[in-house]
Amino acid sequence: MPAKVIDGKAIGAQVRTEIRKRIEIAKRSVRLDAVLVGDDRAAAIYAQNQAKTCAEAGIEYHLHSLPASCGYDEIAGRILLMNTEESIKAIMLHLPLPAFVDTERIQSLIAPEKDVEGVNPANIGNVVYGHRSLVPCTALATLEMIESTGITLRGSKCVIVGASNIVGKPIAVLLMRAEATVVSANKFTKNLSALTREADVVVAAAGVPSLIKPDWIKPGAVVVDVGINRIVGADGKSVTVGDVDPKVAEVAGWMSPVPGGVGPMTVAMLLRNVAEAALR
Ligand code: NAD
Repeated sequence: MPAKVIDGKAIGAQVRTEIRKRIEIAKRSVRLDAVLVGDDRAAAIYAQNQAKTCAEAGIEYHLHSLPASCGYDEIAGRILLMNTEESIKAIMLHLPLPAFVDTERIQSLIAPEKDVEGVNPANIGNVVYGHRSLVPCTALATLEMIESTGITLRGSKCVIVGASNIVGKPIAVLLMRAEATVVSANKFTKNLSALTREADVVVAAAGVPSLIKPDWIKPGAVVVDVGINRIVGADGKSVTVGDVDPKVAEVAGWMSPVPGGVGPMTVAMLLRNVAEAALR
């Protein structure tokens, strides 16, 4: 039997409806303040779509556009001003920043209670400690999608393929907090397929197209594909694929698609963080 689909689009839409209701009940205005530096076309399109998605969830969107000539001091200055501005409750930073600006250093300036992407190291630390905080959106999305299958995480074996600071590591920590047994794998991991074959949950977040093969997966396992890769398809056109070979669906019990999986769910989790930052 083919794997059941973990439908990020559908679960994300449900989350957005919940957020809208929460804002209506609170009778307070909720706003996301986003910073965009320079004229990167993809980032500008992303910001436009974000404004639309926010509006659908009842969230106002304010874009702070800074010229490409801005250096560290100007961007840092804007963030620090936003931190002190009482009416601003939720801040996010569009990437990329100009090449000569240290992105992590800028991210660490965003006030932790306004940092809706969870990129300030203080928030990553809060995730480890299990303190109430704003959790990185993709990690939250992944956990929510795993939980939507009804699996009991306590005592289950989870393998996270990919260990970046903002994706793989926080996912591993959230699963550890759920008392799962967690293996964090990276590009130097030996015999990766032997590890994934034993896992009840496999999360693929490596950025390698079709890395995870059907014979790497235990029958019935939950597989969440975080990867977003652009490749040239058989017809010569550019297509978006995940890190999981689509044939894995013949073995897994549950699987998230790409596109339509973790991507839309991550957007929903960002909006949930915005509502959380503004209303708590
Ligand atoms: P990254 O490049 O920062 O980290 C990749 C990690 O994967 C590293 O730990 C590396 O060691 C590991 N890795 C690479 N090749 C591997 C291999 N062959 N076997 C095992 N591990 C391997 O990437 P990232 O920012 O964490 O993103 C990972 C993927 O997730 C990318 O495809 C990215 O586009 C996608 N992503 C998706 C969302 C979303 O919302 N769905 C959000 C962020 C990132």
